[in-house]
Amino acid sequence: MNDKTSNQFDVVVVGSGASGGWACKRLTEAGLKVALVDAGRTHTTKDYREHIPPFALKYRNLAPEIIRKTRPIQSLAGCDEYNYDWFCNDLEEPYTTPKDKPFSWVGRLRLTGGRTNVWGRVSLRLSDLEFKAASSDGYGEDWPLSYKDIEPYYDLVEEYVGVAGLAEGLPHLPDGKFQPPMGLSCAETKFRNRVKENLGWTVTPARTANLTRPINGRAACHYCGPCERGCVTHSYFNSAYTTVADALATKNLTHIPNAMAFQVLMDMNSNRARGILYIDRVTREQKEVYGRAVILGAQSLESVRILLNSANRSYPDGLANSSGVLGHYLMDHIFVGGGAIGEFPDLPDKLNINGPNRPSGIYIARFQNLPGGPRSKKFLRGYGYEGSGSSNFSWSATGFGEAFKRGVFDPSTTLGVGGFGECLPRWDNYVQIDPDVVDAYGIPVLHIHMTYGENERAIINDMRQSGEAMMEAAGAKNIKSFAVPDREPGRGIHEVGVARMGNNPKKSVLNQFQQTHDIKNLFVCDGSGFTSTACQNPTLTIMALCVRSCDHLLDEMKHANV
Ligand SMILES: Cc1cc2nc3c(=O)[nH]c(=O)nc-3n(C[C@H](O)[C@H](O)[C@H](O)COP(=O)(O)OP(=O)(O)OC[C@H]3O[C@@H](n4cnc5c(N)ncnc54)[C@H](O)[C@@H]3O)c2cc1C
Ligand code: SF4
Repeated sequence: MNDKTSNQFDVVVVGSGASGGWACKRLTEAGLKVALVDAGRTHTTKDYREHIPPFALKYRNLAPEIIRKTRPIQSLAGCDEYNYDWFCNDLEEPYTTPKDKPFSWVGRLRLTGGRTNVWGRVSLRLSDLEFKAASSDGYGEDWPLSYKDIEPYYDLVEEYVGVAGLAEGLPHLPDGKFQPPMGLSCAETKFRNRVKENLGWTVTPARTANLTRPINGRAACHYCGPCERGCVTHSYFNSAYTTVADALATKNLTHIPNAMAFQVLMDMNSNRARGILYIDRVTREQKEVYGRAVILGAQSLESVRILLNSANRSYPDGLANSSGVLGHYLMDHIFVGGGAIGEFPDLPDKLNINGPNRPSGIYIARFQNLPGGPRSKKFLRGYGYEGSGSSNFSWSATGFGEAFKRGVFDPSTTLGVGGFGECLPRWDNYVQIDPDVVDAYGIPVLHIHMTYGENERAIINDMRQSGEAMMEAAGAKNIKSFAVPDREPGRGIHEVGVARMGNNPKKSVLNQFQQTHDIKNLFVCDGSGFTSTACQNPTLTIMALCVRSCDHLLDEMKHANV
């Protein structure tokens, strides 16, 4: 693809996941010619594995060490014998950290659709409580946009993606354009009602990107359960068979798979991005593709790695980094930092070894440090919980023969919750290029410095206490609470903030349209631009912001500003 006429496009998009998929859809449907440069291989019908029984697998999904040999990091989250070939080989694509700052960079997909192949699908809106948090509590910076700016894009994205959920009327967790919610179990219903009555906190069916009504040729979910193995009916949102497929259908998209973007190509005289230099992962050849504009959507850490690897005479510390902020303020949600589990022996469900298996759970909306409410003396911001309740066979029953069988069929009904907490942006959580290490393609790798601080540790402790309080309020028995004070960053799989948005080009890399302040035709549309993490899962916001930024780019192109 090095013939200049055949590889000249209007826009080059890097990444086919949540953000890149939307960029391809929005721009090709507006008539632009787009090249999609993606490190992943193409998605095929062989990637639908959700109905394969474990006994049909070579190792029955019982030999995790086989996977760990090549994917010791990836196998920490969502990567098992069913799908390990979707993930990068950690040995071929390493990263480094200081010895005393472990970071688990999981969820590095190498398949069209990126992380949306395996994501948990919890889809939540942010509100002005998050966008304007700095004005309220004095920490960090406000986002350069408000809820009203993004609201129409949340509507648009939710209606296309299909988010099942229940309207609750909470100003800090705005309702969306929901499909009907998935049902709650008896224990979850009791938990929801009692927690509201006794504590005033909202337990709601998880707002999830699984269809409960068919749309756009995608069927409603049939509750088979393991979405992280694919979905032949396209019932959960995966950009491979939604946004990217729509973009391909326009015939305006050229998909370049197995293409590891290395650098943004620049025209130094005009200070414009002119394309992408990538390595073909199969042949290991260097290739170039050109565009009038470039959008990075390779997942925050990967996009910033590309920018840092694109340093040149004009931008010696990384492309579009005149502020010096690029790579700093890395954030990741505190993943299940604390919580509780309890039993509900009075509420047994009917047991059935063949499901149905609801692919979602419950969500508990943030209840700390809300406007008009008390402020915690121990920490800023807050957290929500994910959880679920279910009845199971008592596999750990004791005894032999008949007694054991009876014991197994005596259902145990449990409900557990784990907190997802906000992580504050700190300058000293940052990434840089490791000058001594390259990956299998010869591309210098990231050196990641990240720790959680006092605020995150105080939140973790509070997650444990509030988890216990909810179980007590709900009348659970045998309550066990937990806290993980040394939770490793990265496990939240919500890394954001490394090219943050802001109005001041001296303190931020991107403007409110995720356009770099320094280079007008260069955009970064994944979570890199987040000014704070909030405590809500980020992907719905990543997608809504990406569509908004694409509309801005289209407008700028129309007026010949880009
Ligand atoms: C197990 C798991 C559970 C999750 N659960 C949730 C959840 O419940 N809710 C939620 O909101 N979020 C969740 N997430 C996070 C969510 O998946 C991500 O926020 C979202 O997919 C990020 O979108 P993205 O476009 O930035 O990156 P991705 O979706 O990861 O897409 C990045 C794409 O870029 C490509 N790429 C990477 N590097 C390069 C390169 N150098 N050159 C070319 N292409 C490249 C990859 O192949 C990939 O296709 C989860 C993630 C995982 C792994
Ligand atoms: S549970 Fe639903 S969305 Fe998930 S794989 Fe099965 S049918 Fe698809």
